[in-house]
Amino acid sequence: MKIFNTLSRTKEDFVPIEPGKVRMYVCGPTVYNYIHIGNARPMIVFDTVRRYFEYKGYKVNYVSNFTDVDDKIIKKAIEENTTVDVITTRYINECKKDMQDMNVKEATTHPKATEEIDGMIEMIEQLIEKGYAYNADGTVYFRTRAFSDYGKLSKKNIDELQAGHREIQVTGEQGKEDYFDFVLWKPKKEGEPYWPSPWSDGRPGWHIECSVMAKKYLGDEIDIHAGGEDLIFPHHENEIAQSEAANGTTFAKYWMHNGFLNINHVKMSKSLGNFFTVREISEKYDLQVLRFFMLSAHYRSPLNFSQELMEASKNGLERICNAVTRLKDLKGTQEQKMEMPQVQALIDKFEAAMEDDFNTADAISAIFELVKYANIHLNADSPEADIAYTLQTIQTLCDVLGIITDQKTEILDQEIETLIEERQQARKDKNFARADEIRDILTQKGIILEDTKEGVKWKRA
Ligand code: AMP
Ligand code: ZN
Repeated sequence: MKIFNTLSRTKEDFVPIEPGKVRMYVCGPTVYNYIHIGNARPMIVFDTVRRYFEYKGYKVNYVSNFTDVDDKIIKKAIEENTTVDVITTRYINECKKDMQDMNVKEATTHPKATEEIDGMIEMIEQLIEKGYAYNADGTVYFRTRAFSDYGKLSKKNIDELQAGHREIQVTGEQGKEDYFDFVLWKPKKEGEPYWPSPWSDGRPGWHIECSVMAKKYLGDEIDIHAGGEDLIFPHHENEIAQSEAANGTTFAKYWMHNGFLNINHVKMSKSLGNFFTVREISEKYDLQVLRFFMLSAHYRSPLNFSQELMEASKNGLERICNAVTRLKDLKGTQEQKMEMPQVQALIDKFEAAMEDDFNTADAISAIFELVKYANIHLNADSPEADIAYTLQTIQTLCDVLGIITDQKTEILDQEIETLIEERQQARKDKNFARADEIRDILTQKGIILEDTKEGVKWKRA
């Protein structure tokens, strides 16, 4: 299996640290609002990477954090006149709901920064002891120049960067020895959440979170570290400096970065305001369509969001789901299983695409070819075993991509209640056709209605 490693800027063979196991860390969102579909890209892409490893028989330990202490969260709490805790609990729950609707598997562990402060203080103490960090009046900085490999991921050279920044002195950072030193711990400001530490009552810097959570849940050395390409510098560069300086060993073997999700060819971001939340998209499309759209491009390429591409994804997904439904309905003849070289060749094609740095776009075209094969060659006269094998193959490969092919869509309690109310109104209006139609819709979705003296009751079949 080949993975493009940002560290070497080449595709490398994947060799796990421990045979049969993958230790993977994916930087998660800062939780102060609903996630936007740009944030959804790494979630979907790296969930698919995980699923492919699992399909190949690896046991994956997948860790993805929630950043639940940050200036933006504090600002939001002040705006809403509430606590940071209320904001983060709300948006972690909303994020988990979006992830579930996008069929993103739960991480093995979803650590929260605020629950890992002790580990952060411990790592900062180690860094100070080893001469990689210093305390300047309650603020602790990482001594960037002390880490000789600094810049190896982003290919930045400190001296070149320095030339452009000689004049810049950020206010409040007078205690810094060098422009490139970055914050590991900062003292609290009035009204901010804080924790006691040997240096000041305060809170950790952002970068130290990930170094500590990766170490705690995955160990000093991990196989894959991933995130959006905007994280290469400074976040991931700083994580490498902290972890390798503290642990004395290579931090991550493979660094994977997804390209941006753009809108009108500009990066979608909260600060520019050019974003759609996953929740907004879910009002118009099943989030399976969003997932399919994200996987229709290679994860490292930029992807431009548009209505047309979403419609194309919707149609593509329907084509697959329709083929699955048709195969399920076909009974076929009870003959011996035949060899199916065409199907096997397409499984090989799918795997070859995924083995080549997770080329999901080509993997999807192998699935389309399978669908085409099924539509042309399989019918009621085909051997039952052939139908079953082809059906199972399509479903297995879709599952690797996290695409659900069952058209029996889940109906939510709220939707059921709304339809029942509409049906009651239709009856009052003597619109019996509509009332019957609603009963049929619910029956099709496995909901049984019972007219009782107390009103309409319902249950799932
Ligand atoms: P944030 O909450 O901004 O820290 O972002 C969480 C994750 O989403 C990080 O891995 C970012 O790199 C990623 N991300 C943010 N915006 C985009 C975008 N427009 N396209 C792709 N990935 C993004
Ligand atoms: Zn991170």
